[in-house]
Amino acid sequence: MPTSPAASAPSVSVDLLIERGASLRACNTFGLPANAHTLVRVRSAADVRRVVNHPELGRAPKFILGGGSNLVLTQDVQACVLKMEIEGIRLLDTRDDAWIVEAGAGVGWHALVQWCLDHDLPGLENMALIPGTVGAAPVQNIGAYGVELKDRFESLDAVDLITGRMVTLDAAQCRFGYRDSVFKQALAGKSVITTVRLRLPRPWQAVLGYLELERKVAETGITEPTARQIFDWVCAIRRAKLPDPAVIGNAGSFFKNPVVTAEQCRDIIGRDPHVVHYPLEDGSFKLAAGWLIDACGWKGKSIGRAGVYDKQALVLVNRGGASGAEVVTLARAIQESVYGRFGIRLEPEPVVV
Ligand SMILES: Cc1cc2nc3c(=O)[nH]c(=O)nc-3n(C[C@H](O)[C@H](O)[C@H](O)COP(=O)(O)OP(=O)(O)OC[C@H]3O[C@@H](n4cnc5c(N)ncnc54)[C@H](O)[C@@H]3O)c2cc1C
Repeated sequence: MPTSPAASAPSVSVDLLIERGASLRACNTFGLPANAHTLVRVRSAADVRRVVNHPELGRAPKFILGGGSNLVLTQDVQACVLKMEIEGIRLLDTRDDAWIVEAGAGVGWHALVQWCLDHDLPGLENMALIPGTVGAAPVQNIGAYGVELKDRFESLDAVDLITGRMVTLDAAQCRFGYRDSVFKQALAGKSVITTVRLRLPRPWQAVLGYLELERKVAETGITEPTARQIFDWVCAIRRAKLPDPAVIGNAGSFFKNPVVTAEQCRDIIGRDPHVVHYPLEDGSFKLAAGWLIDACGWKGKSIGRAGVYDKQALVLVNRGGASGAEVVTLARAIQESVYGRFGIRLEPEPVVV
């Protein structure tokens, strides 16, 4: 729904930048249409406390918005949207065994990866080109090509949305899991991450165990690549297989890779001996969600204006003008058919609002 210029004009209220009726279409990588009744641009931790103490906004429910790259908007957002725009990156400490880098929640994740490499601080290169903000990275413990945020995490600061109190949490308190953390569980929607500190181990060691990186080593003959070379490889691999949200709206992988018991895995192999599965240390197995979806014939298919990406069945795309409801309808149809064929209930990765 278009917003009239008058309705979206920013108004400064007690140092807070508040917008009414703001369009969120450009604030989510799916490009889904939705408006925010109230949007506050958060540029410091003090802004979060101002919101908490604000006579009107303090009482309102809140929704924290980063880059909108893990989001499916199905309707206008009535909650007060806190759009995270806290900037700043610095090298906080150089220890014998690690560099500690600190960044504001609104910094783009990929911009941080680039900044670190430009300052000879390697360690994040495997996670290059993941869209979104630094503040959202701990929420689902982002990861790619053999490295997860938890492997490079030192601590974070967050502000409680009820009390306005600032807390500092270490890795154990964040309870990181596969695409999971305390911010998706007990603290979901209750705490705003304002600053993240990363621990980049010294001496740096390349992480090359991932199949597509092993292929790059074999193709190029470079057995000891630099962090910059790994960064370039990861960017090239990602560009070849994932749609650029600036061109085709999407939220990356739409479903988590399901983890099943050994018994369940045997049952699924009985249904299809080709099923892609990886053993985990605890005896369980991780299944490739993209393979399950592809096996059900979904690659390239559409429902309405929402579709399954032709090159990667795990990615749902906006084929142009799709609504959030169409994306959800498609996701449910995929869940039903994967459940019907393999008995596995796929769990969506993005947050549905
Ligand atoms: C093309 C593409 C590729 C992707 N590839 C990967 C990948 O390889 N690995 C991976 O892990 N993910 C991947 N993603 C998913 C996405 O990039 C990550 O989940 C990212 O961390 C989301 O960041 P965001 O700022 O866009 O968060 P948003 O989508 O804005 O928000 C996501 C959730 O985090 C909450 N949140 C946001 N900021 C804060 C904050 N400061 N404090 C508290 N809560 C907050 C929101 O309320 C919401 O619940 C991909 C997405 C796309 C579009």
